[in-house]
Amino acid sequence: MHTGRAPTRAVLTAELGVTRATAGAVAAELETLGLITVDSRPGAASGTQGRPSHRLAVNEDGPVVLAAQVHADGFRAALVGLGGHIVATAPGCGTVAADPAHVLGEVVAAGAQLLRGTGRRCVGAGLAVPSSVAEPEGRALNPLHLAWEAGAPVRELFTRSLAEAGVPGPSGDAPAVGFAANDLNLAALAEHRHGAGRGAQHLLVVGTGHRGVGGALVLDGRLHTGSSGLAMEVGHLTVDPGGRPCHCGSRGCLDVEADPLAFLEAAGREPGPEISLLDQAREMIRTEYPGDPAVRSAVGTLIDRLGLGLAGLVNILNPDRVVLAGLHRLLAEADGDRLRAVVADRSLWGRSGGVPVLPSSLEFNSLVGAAELAWQPMLDDPLGTLGG
Ligand SMILES: [Zn+2]
Repeated sequence: MHTGRAPTRAVLTAELGVTRATAGAVAAELETLGLITVDSRPGAASGTQGRPSHRLAVNEDGPVVLAAQVHADGFRAALVGLGGHIVATAPGCGTVAADPAHVLGEVVAAGAQLLRGTGRRCVGAGLAVPSSVAEPEGRALNPLHLAWEAGAPVRELFTRSLAEAGVPGPSGDAPAVGFAANDLNLAALAEHRHGAGRGAQHLLVVGTGHRGVGGALVLDGRLHTGSSGLAMEVGHLTVDPGGRPCHCGSRGCLDVEADPLAFLEAAGREPGPEISLLDQAREMIRTEYPGDPAVRSAVGTLIDRLGLGLAGLVNILNPDRVVLAGLHRLLAEADGDRLRAVVADRSLWGRSGGVPVLPSSLEFNSLVGAAELAWQPMLDDPLGTLGG
C-alpha cells in the first residue's frame, strides 16, 4: 500500500498470497492503527477478478515522520506521510554552520514547528546529508561541501536534537531515534519506491545536490551500500584527467566537473549571492537555454562529462534503468538525445539502447528517502511499532 501496489483488498489478497479473510483482518488492523482507510461501499472499485472489492488508501490524516535534509546551501525540513506524500515543508537557506549540532538543531526545530502547525502524530525521523554515512556508527565520513569535520557523528547529534525539540518516537512517550544516510542513496530509495525507478531491478541513480555528484544502486529493492555503507562514490570517477583539482586529491572528478558550480563556470557566470547554486542553474536552463549560446554550450559540456561517467557505470553495473536527479535531471530534460548518444557511444551495454535514462520524478527525493528510513520500522512491523 505504501508504494501504491495494493489499491484494493483483492489486490492485497493476491499480493500477500493469503485468504480473503486474512487480508481483510490485516486491512482492518492497519485501519485501526490510523494508517489506511478502507472504503467498503459496493462498487467503489474493481478488483483484479472483475468483482467489486474494498478500496484501500493511505489515510491522508494519518501519522507522519519528520524528514530533514542538510545541503551545501542550507537545510529543509518536511513532514512526510505514508505513500511518500509530503504534507508540509520548510526551507532554511544560508551558510551551514561548521558545527553540525547547530544546523541539525535548526532543521529539527523547523520540523517540530511544522508538527505543531499540523497537529499530526509523528512516528519517527530521518536525515539526509551530503556525505557517506558509515554504519553502524552513523558518522558522516566525507562532508566535502560542508565545513563539517570528517567523521561527525550526525546520527547521534540528530537524535539529540530530536530529544531537545520534544519530537516523539513511534510509541509517543520516548523521544524519536534518528536515522541518517547519504542524500543520493536516499533519493534513489525514494525514486525506487515512489518515483521514476519503480519496478526497476537494478536501478542506477546519479545526481547532484547543491554541490558535488552522488550515485546509488538499488538492487532488487535494496540499496547497495557496500561493506560499511560507503559504496557507489561515483562522484570521484575521473571524467577529465587534466581537469579541476578535486577535494578527494584527484583531478577532473564528476564531483567537480558536473555539478551546479561547474555548470555556472562553464556558462561564464558567477554564483548569485541570494539563491542556491542548484536553483540558479535551474533558472538559467529554464529561461535562457533556448536563446543564450553560452548556456546552451554549458549544457552540452556538462552532458558530455556526465555521459562519460554514466557510460563507465553502465559497463560495470549493467543497470536496467538509469534515473538522473538534481542538475543532471535538468540536463537530461534539456537535451536527452545528446546524453543518450554519449552513453551509447562510450559503452558496450549502452549501445544496445536497452538502458532507459530517465529524469527523476519526485520533487524532494532525498527528503522522501529520509522519511523512508524513518518509516521502515513501522513498515516492517506496524502493530509492534505503533500498537504497543
Ligand atoms: Zn574527487
